[in-house]
Amino acid sequence: MSNEKIGFIFCVCTGKCPGFAQLDLWDFINIIRSEYPVEYAFIHPMLCDEDGERFLDAFLKKGTKYLVAGCAPIMQYKLFRDSFNKANLDSKKDLIPIDVRNMNLKQALSLVKETLKEIGKNV
Ligand code: SF4
Repeated sequence: MSNEKIGFIFCVCTGKCPGFAQLDLWDFINIIRSEYPVEYAFIHPMLCDEDGERFLDAFLKKGTKYLVAGCAPIMQYKLFRDSFNKANLDSKKDLIPIDVRNMNLKQALSLVKETLKEIGKNV
């Protein structure tokens, strides 16, 4: 198993986005934080807004990879690139974006599991 530290962030588009309507947000984050091989897991309401950017500036640090569940990976790479650069991180390597919109709990957990497996972390 890889020794890399993985921080898990679930960005929920205010929590009212129809894309997350099928997913029990609290069950999802609680299962990941307590049962999956991540350092921590938490929900942020809107990482791509100005306060989200300030949060990432204060929070990101070298030595951790960030698995971010939220919108499309292509969007996440664009939205978070500057924050990763400012923290001397490479968004192409240190950001692991997954799209969990329109998924139910089982589908979203299975995607997280597969993604962790790809980076050498078996659940
Ligand atoms: S980063 Fe993506 S998931 Fe998060 S609030 Fe912005 S658009 Fe929504």
